[in-house]
Formats: sequence, C-alpha cells, structure tokens
Amino acid sequence: MRLSDPKTIKEVLTKNGFQFKKSLGQNFLINPSVCPKMADNAVANGEEAVIEIGPGIGVLTAELAKRAKNVVCIEIDERLRPVLSETLAEFDNVEVIFGDCMKLDIAAIIEERFKGKKVSVCANLPYYITSPIIMMLLESRLPITSVTVMVQKEAADRICAKVGSRESGAVTVAVNYYCQPEVLFNVSRGSFMPPPNVDSSVIGLNIRPFPPVKLTDEKGFFRFVRSAFGQRRKTLVNSASSDGRFTKDAVRQALQEANLPETVRAEALTMDELANVFSALK
Ligand code: SAM
Repeated sequence: MRLSDPKTIKEVLTKNGFQFKKSLGQNFLINPSVCPKMADNAVANGEEAVIEIGPGIGVLTAELAKRAKNVVCIEIDERLRPVLSETLAEFDNVEVIFGDCMKLDIAAIIEERFKGKKVSVCANLPYYITSPIIMMLLESRLPITSVTVMVQKEAADRICAKVGSRESGAVTVAVNYYCQPEVLFNVSRGSFMPPPNVDSSVIGLNIRPFPPVKLTDEKGFFRFVRSAFGQRRKTLVNSASSDGRFTKDAVRQALQEANLPETVRAEALTMDELANVFSALK
C-alpha cells in the first residue's frame, strides 16, 4: 500500500468513516521522501527496535518496520484501530498500543519488550504537545539512543539553537542538557494532509551518555532556567528574581562570583555559566 498517496489515504479513511481531528494534531504525511529519511536516521546506530508516537495511518511505521526488527507504536486515537490493522497487515513486527503517550509508562514498555536492545524513538509529533512530549522522553531518562522527530520549524530552530545565542531559550538549555540536537531537514506545509499553517523540520536528538554540566539539584536548576528565560528582554538580575525564589542582591552576588557582568541576559550565558551562577546562588 502506498500510504503517502493522498488517494490511498482518502480511500482507507473514507472506508473506515474516519475524519481528521485537529485537536489531536492529525496532519498526515503525503510527501513520499520524508518517512524513509526519518526512518534511516532512527536506525542509523544499529537500533533494533523503534518506538513511534502517533502512527496515524502508519506511513512512517511502515518505513520503520522495513528497517528495524521491532516497532511499537503508541496512538491515542482508537478510531485508527481498524485503519492500522488494514494498512500494517503485511508487517508482523509492529505492535500498536492505544493510549496517551504522556500517560503510558514508556520505560516499562521498553523494559518488557526490548531489554538490552538498542532502541530509538521516531515520530511526526502532534503540534499541540510537541515540547511536553520531547521533555517527557528526555526527563524520564529512557534507555534510548536517539529521538528523531518532526516538529514545527520554529520549535526546531529554538531547540537546536546554540546555548548562549540570541535564539536560545529555556527549552534549548533543557534539551541540550540531555542530548545533542541537530536540524536534519526541513519539510514544507504542503507535505501534509490536511496542510498545517506552518512549515516543519525533522530534528535528531542524540542522547548524551553524561550531562555536559554536573548539577546537584536538577529540578532547582531547571526552575531557575525557566524564570531566567521567562522575561527575555530583562537582565538576569531581574528575570531570575521574578519568581521570588532569589533576591536581586543574591543574583547580583552570584554573577560576581561567576565573573559575569551584572547586566548580562540569560540568552548570553553558556550552559557552564548558567550552572555556575545557579551553584553560586545555592
Ligand atoms: N505518523 C503519522 C504521519 O506522519 O502521517 C501521523 C502524525 S500526526 C502529526 C500525529 C499523530 O499523533 C496522530 O495520529 C494523533 O492521533 C496522534 N496523537 C496525538 N496526541 C497523541 C498522544 N498524546 N499520544 C499518542 N498519540 C497521539
């Protein structure tokens, strides 16, 4: 079955009485060149198993199933059950779990099925929940090698910005703590059915074996980072004190201890500098 062919998609969906739900971010890929490239990246390090989030009608799933020994998909929309049974009928190495990826225990899914195997995650993510899914995957420290995901271009640029550059934000720091992100390629809005209002990019997140900085209080650090980047135009003294956890004087003193100017903004600081300021604050 040519699952990126709009005619085939319409036929399968109509037969099963399926209508797209915008609230679930259902924009299905119809550009045939995208999924093979995503799937190649997902198994580039010899991964045997891939977890896919949101298979839709299975266009990316089929490419993953051709390359990996096993594929487990997590799909929230039960209406896709008959559709996926039909579109993935030729593959005996695919399992679809119906549920919300934010609520399922993905670590347990990997432990039960793929213990000791090289596993990666691959997905064309629903736009309404992109960052929470990425952070959930990274923060739960899953035993995975990489995450290959399609996200809005703007989100990709922010995630893959250099920490310490004008384009960076709290999400840049958080993602870079767990992995090395890179933009792999861009995908135009016309590559989807129905087309979204924005262009997309596929990014690769290569999981780091060790974080780039040593932190004694990760939770506290990320809370500090969120408030530091919360008001981007303000200096760190003003933004990092805005949630009431640290006084302006304390931030000023921490900057001095870290040999940084009092007027500095969060976006100008490297990961090491952010960690130094936080540890001086503590
Ligand atoms: N992989 C397909 C493709 O590339 O054409 C579909 C991608 S579509 C952008 C996002 C998919 O994620 C939809 O199938 C949607 O139903 C599913 N989805 C949305 N929220 C989800 C969640 N919380 N957990 C699991 N799947 C979800």
